[in-house]
Amino acid sequence: MRNVVIIGSGCAGNTAALYTARANLKPLVISGHEAGGQLSLTTLVENFPGFPEGINGPDLVENIRKQAEHFGAEYMHGAVIDTDLSKRPFRLNVEGEWMEARTVIIAAGASARWLGLESEQKLIGHGVSSCATCDGFFYREKEIMVVGGGDSAMEEANFLTRFGKRVTLVHRKDTFRASKIMLDRAKANPKIEFLMNTAVEEVFDVTKGEVTGARLRNLVTGDIFDRPVDGFFVAIGHIPNTHIFKGQLDLDPDGYLLSHGGARTNILGVFHAGDVQDRVYRQAITAAGAGCMAAIEVERLLEAEGH
Ligand SMILES: Cc1cc2nc3c(=O)[nH]c(=O)nc-3n(C[C@H](O)[C@H](O)[C@H](O)COP(=O)(O)OP(=O)(O)OC[C@H]3O[C@@H](n4cnc5c(N)ncnc54)[C@H](O)[C@@H]3O)c2cc1C
Repeated sequence: MRNVVIIGSGCAGNTAALYTARANLKPLVISGHEAGGQLSLTTLVENFPGFPEGINGPDLVENIRKQAEHFGAEYMHGAVIDTDLSKRPFRLNVEGEWMEARTVIIAAGASARWLGLESEQKLIGHGVSSCATCDGFFYREKEIMVVGGGDSAMEEANFLTRFGKRVTLVHRKDTFRASKIMLDRAKANPKIEFLMNTAVEEVFDVTKGEVTGARLRNLVTGDIFDRPVDGFFVAIGHIPNTHIFKGQLDLDPDGYLLSHGGARTNILGVFHAGDVQDRVYRQAITAAGAGCMAAIEVERLLEAEGH
């Protein structure tokens, strides 16, 4: 029987592991198929406090893991494929093996939706991004492309005009899912150019290891054309990794965990941390902070229960 099992090894999970390990709770972290989480996909992180020169994403998350292991946190490869949260102790199935836990911290993150192009996948962290707040600063006076037609695409495009020479917004349709106010704001921005009825065929240049342009197709005329671009932002949404909790935990319509105050879910003893619950901020530092909150909730609950 574990005091606490943490699902996910990104910033949130590793920080929760650090705090619960230092509280002598001997946490077990289930790493998931993406050990290190989203930060392992990126290169330089310039906005995590404490690193004046910036730090590589994989190094940052690995350092938090080492710090947690130093205090006794254990890590296990594999993913949680099923859970029974109907009573305590909770039961978790890790790749076919059931285990029991007094408390659970869910730090399973939310994966960015990508277009699915091979070239796009190879250039993630090298000019392809899903986070304007994180990477916009790298594209001062550069050509930026944003793909998407919802509120987040409008918000990212508007934000990126603070940096870029021009922002080209590419959208497959001639209508938008975005709300009128967000769309109007983007349309009124002289630095945003709209390319409607247009799909991305390829992102260049995989051989150079950096983004230099994109091949586009006009879906009405069939014309194919290339655009030089330095930063390529995909803003077509995120998928919270919560399918295994459906029917057990309260989720919002998009599948994000619903908070019941602090780090609490609707089940006593099950806590949330990081992007799996946060559709607004989605930053390494907020995820780490949320991991700390969940860990303190676990400590207090177990203490009150005499464990
Ligand atoms: C390309 C890119 C660049 C970014 N750059 C920055 C930046 O510069 N600055 C910044 O602050 N933020 C940045 N971010 C955002 C930041 O990475 C996220 O906000 C942060 O990683 C969220 O942490 P998390 O721990 O909540 O989730 P994640 O990092 O998503 O980690 C989730 C973890 O859960 C695991 N998991 C999922 N399902 C299961 C399961 N069923 N069983 C077990 N484990 C599971 C995964 O394997 C993973 O380890 C960037 C994101 C991306 C994609």
